Amino acid sequence: MHLKRIDCLPMALSTNRTRPVVLAIAGYDPSSGAGITADIKTITAQGCYGVTCITSLTVQSTRGVRSVEPVEGKLITEILDELVTDIEISAVKIGMLGTAEATRAVTGFLKRYSPRRVVLDPVLVSSSGASLLAKDGLPLLKDRLVGLVSVITPNAAEAATLTGLKVDTLEEMELAARRLRQMGARSVIVTGGHLDPPSDLIIAETSPTPVILTGVKVLSRSTHGTGCAFSTALACKLAQGRNLVPAAKAAKSFVETSLKNAPLLGRGIGPVV
Ligand code: PLP
Repeated sequence: MHLKRIDCLPMALSTNRTRPVVLAIAGYDPSSGAGITADIKTITAQGCYGVTCITSLTVQSTRGVRSVEPVEGKLITEILDELVTDIEISAVKIGMLGTAEATRAVTGFLKRYSPRRVVLDPVLVSSSGASLLAKDGLPLLKDRLVGLVSVITPNAAEAATLTGLKVDTLEEMELAARRLRQMGARSVIVTGGHLDPPSDLIIAETSPTPVILTGVKVLSRSTHGTGCAFSTALACKLAQGRNLVPAAKAAKSFVETSLKNAPLLGRGIGPVV
């Protein structure tokens, strides 16, 4: 009897102990619709382990962003160095950076450690209209950061700001993706949640032919954080060893399911996860 009990213990402890680690570098949204706390929910739902570095604190709720308080670049650098020298990171997702200083700190981190799978969600403006990257951060993001990541996932508005092109239709999304590749991006996914049916356009490093992922329109008022959920789920699937297109398909389907099951919270645009 006594021996049997001892045998059970190591078996119970030995399950599910090798989850890939995903590092989310992003802003803090206290309502957990977007940003770091939402990313942790997505990473956990995908079966990965999340570690984080906060670039900015925001005051916001489902009613929108009220203010943004940046985190010092030196602190961001120290946090990233501390994490990466201790824990094996399988993928990195970069979201809201907030300032040029934070963009510089993250760029320096990528140059020092060259992590293998890096997803950049180029967060520029919230859906409520608040600026989430200072004006002097944009050239740094375009000229330095874009060339250091594995894949960039702009929505149509972000792709338009980054390229200077008009981006609305699938044809325009393709032109913008090609321009982003000329700007140094290895792979590009322009998300088309504004289209009906919602369709994302992928140009992968390994193949110049664009791939279009067509989804299903889910009518919901809980759409806050869909970009974060997509890019973070994508980072998780890449961390689990999937190639870009299957990883993007899985991430898109995660967002669709999340939209259908989103908790109905707040007086404004509710959280997607
Ligand atoms: N706040 C933070 C911290 C974010 O990272 C983002 C988007 O990535 C937003 C707000 C904006 O989210 P949405 O455009 O869904 O309102």
